[in-house]
Amino acid sequence: MDTANHSNKQVFAFEEGNGKDKKLLGGKGANLCEMTQIGLNVPPGFVISTAACLEYLASPSRGLPAGIMEEVRAQMRALEAKTGKGFGNPEDPLLVSVRSGSAISMPGMMDTILNLGLNAETLQGLIRQTGDPRFGYDAYRRFIQLFGKVALGVSDERFDDEFEAVKAVANVKEDVGLSAADLKEISERFLKVVEEHTGSPFPEDPFEQLEIAIKAVFNSWMGRRAVDYRRQFHITPEMANGTAVNVCTMVFGNRGNDSGTGVAFTRNPGTGENKLFGEYLLNAQGEDVVAGIRTPKPIDRLKDDMPEMARQLDELRDKLESHYREVQDFEFTIERGQLYCLQTRNGKMNAHAMVRTSVEMERDELITKEQALLRIKPELLEQMLFPRLDPKARAEAVAQGLPASPGAASGVAVFDADRAEQMGRELGQKVILVREETKPEDIHGFFASEGILTSRGGKTSHAAVVARGMGKPCVAGAEGIAVDVNRREAYVGETSFREGEVITIDGTTGKVYLGAIPTVEPDFSPELNTLLSWADEIAGLEVMANADTPDDARSALKYGAVGIGLARTERMFNDPARLPIVIEMIVADSSEERQAALDKLLPLQRSDFRELFEVMSPRPVTIRLLDPPIHEFLPDEHQLERELIELRRLAETTRGMAVLSGTMSLIHASDGARRELDAMRRMVDPALVEDAIAKKETMLRKVRILYETNPMLGHRGVRLGITFPEIYQMQIRAILEAAAECARMGVEVHPQIKVPQVCTAQELKRVKFYVDTIHEEIKQRYGHPVAFKFGTMIEVVRACMRAESLAEVAEFFSFGTNDLTQATFSFSREDAENKFLPLYNQSTILQDNPFEVLDVKGVGKLMKLAVEWGKQTRPDIHVGICGEHGGHPSSIAFCHEAGLDYVSCSAPRVPVARLAAAHAALGAKL
Ligand code: PEP
Ligand code: MG
Repeated sequence: MDTANHSNKQVFAFEEGNGKDKKLLGGKGANLCEMTQIGLNVPPGFVISTAACLEYLASPSRGLPAGIMEEVRAQMRALEAKTGKGFGNPEDPLLVSVRSGSAISMPGMMDTILNLGLNAETLQGLIRQTGDPRFGYDAYRRFIQLFGKVALGVSDERFDDEFEAVKAVANVKEDVGLSAADLKEISERFLKVVEEHTGSPFPEDPFEQLEIAIKAVFNSWMGRRAVDYRRQFHITPEMANGTAVNVCTMVFGNRGNDSGTGVAFTRNPGTGENKLFGEYLLNAQGEDVVAGIRTPKPIDRLKDDMPEMARQLDELRDKLESHYREVQDFEFTIERGQLYCLQTRNGKMNAHAMVRTSVEMERDELITKEQALLRIKPELLEQMLFPRLDPKARAEAVAQGLPASPGAASGVAVFDADRAEQMGRELGQKVILVREETKPEDIHGFFASEGILTSRGGKTSHAAVVARGMGKPCVAGAEGIAVDVNRREAYVGETSFREGEVITIDGTTGKVYLGAIPTVEPDFSPELNTLLSWADEIAGLEVMANADTPDDARSALKYGAVGIGLARTERMFNDPARLPIVIEMIVADSSEERQAALDKLLPLQRSDFRELFEVMSPRPVTIRLLDPPIHEFLPDEHQLERELIELRRLAETTRGMAVLSGTMSLIHASDGARRELDAMRRMVDPALVEDAIAKKETMLRKVRILYETNPMLGHRGVRLGITFPEIYQMQIRAILEAAAECARMGVEVHPQIKVPQVCTAQELKRVKFYVDTIHEEIKQRYGHPVAFKFGTMIEVVRACMRAESLAEVAEFFSFGTNDLTQATFSFSREDAENKFLPLYNQSTILQDNPFEVLDVKGVGKLMKLAVEWGKQTRPDIHVGICGEHGGHPSSIAFCHEAGLDYVSCSAPRVPVARLAAAHAALGAKL
């Protein structure tokens, strides 16, 4: 029914109100109308509109809008007719509940008043009717307390004091032990409390009670709690304005053993099983179930206690689901063999249950595939893909960092990568690698650890990116933790933990705990696979994975990636067996020396790529040529200096010994003493020490030459490939040879070569020239060409601005939004998230962290321009994103809208991205 037709009408019977008009009737009111109109047995009642509330609040006299009470009286007469009872009738009194309810559920508003309509006379009628004085006085004292508190502002403590005093005199512990006489005494005391507080007797006239209650509900909209709540949760007048008042006939579940009350879900919210789930209490009121005074029975048992009610409850379940087409969480009351549905709402479920119910409801034709997908927020899937802390475990976090890579893990703290490897790999212990920040040379420690904790760095720091790639939990930038590597201890406020002590990290929340907190393992169910296959049918964007190793690639396939969108080759250089060769290559004094080192690396890289191609065949594999600043592979300058000091001391000592030994021969020292000294001298060969010093000095000199003040903006990416062409040439050769070998073995491969940090087409042309030359040579050698694609990362602002000329060379664009965000904001991706971004976010200078949620207005605008200009030159250019935003749902929605072809993200986020891509195609608001 359309309420628009009743513009002057302010009060709507449950049969009349438009169940879809939450703005006018509030969520609860609209729902009660809807339930009534679909034939559920809802106790009769009516709703006073939010419009009436706004009119009331706007009137200076704070009088109810004209005509409202007349409408209310008419509705009460209708209720009397429906129930056969009379409001204020001492023979058979009609009692009602009064509740608030705005368009958005707000805990800050008014509590419910129950049993309104009771007074000294109607109470006696209720007792006569029910034959149960205890029931009557219990209802009465509840009403006086709720009305006193909610409508008249009496504090709860005043009532509690009286209640406890009577309990003490009666010498009972539990409320249920109170007799009718005790409850009568309590009601009388309560009436006095109200009179003392208000200075006038408790209102006896039921209509006066009702009018006061209606005004109290309206006033609660502007109450402090409600106003604060709206501010806190940004609830604007467009979302909810004013509260409705719901007046509903009371039904009692505490009228004997043919009565009861319960709460139930139409399906199991923990497992999704298609079976009624819930509990009930016989002879009880709704509050008793919630208060936990008595232990409720599982709903299965209702068929033994009341078989007919159990059958009706099953019917109710079917009606609810076939109408709402969503799992419902509902409340019911049975009064003397009559089943009433008091409330229903969409059931909140865990991810597993959401996925299972989505798939099963689609099969039952309750919902469509689209609806099945849209019911589930993509982020929710993370619960199913990563281990998480057992929700039952209660623990206080000692520190908060950035949630850099999801999942939870416990293990003994270790403070360096070698130790992590030793304890993790060799001793089989579970370890958490704790560092101030990580560097590429720590990579072996990552492999051996359950998780990574750093006290510095952001969500795109080395630790975060690598951990995400490996699917390991990481908390980054926990600045409250001071890591002392030398003492192998970390300090957190007043406390600390040492190497070997167990800690737990939660990379989903960024929290750090002392001790072991139990975790729950993830599960990749068949239902999830079904749901994701539907997502793939609908999505416009393809989802690829950022994967650097064959293991990563296998997990990318497991999660359903259609290819590799980014393989960062630097990870292949960090293998401890290779790092010395890489260093040799970097510090080489001549092209020949460098080539010699590269010749050793070539076969290793070739087999890396071959393995990746084999795992991914026939899907595309996009390999990025070396990107990071080269100093990242070199030893630390200060460490080298310290080692040199030690070596020089050692050299002095050995020289001192030589002098001493000469002196001894002059002073004719004993043979024994001379032999001892010689033995000591032989232990440290001075020539070896001198040699070590010379090597360290050379390394230190080279490290200093290569030193850059601002390495992120320095000698990295394609600039490296141009100053040291041999490095890129080796990688290109390795890629093309691996592809040629695969092709020879009948393995279908689609390599894609991409160049990082490009800012001008000239750079790209130079690299393309290397590629073409090497390809030509390989074609000759293998007797056939290699099919490959050549493209560029778009991660600097100039690349966006020059997209049309880059597209002359590049067959694909891959947005590196980690760097592009850094470059657009001029915010360091290493530091911003710890230093000033939290404050920017809190004070809403920036709504989101741009390293996590793509900045659509700035970075996104650049991306759109680049796509448009790139397509002008090359209409079929393939465009994607491989920055961390590629796994973030709202950023994925933007990528869809901006016309990208694919997103690429770390393997474990692939399912989230697949679902988000379908949501984007369906136009869902994220
Ligand atoms: C990027 O900058 O978004 C990117 C993918 O490259 P990296 O994070 O390796 O710099
Ligand atoms: Mg980058």
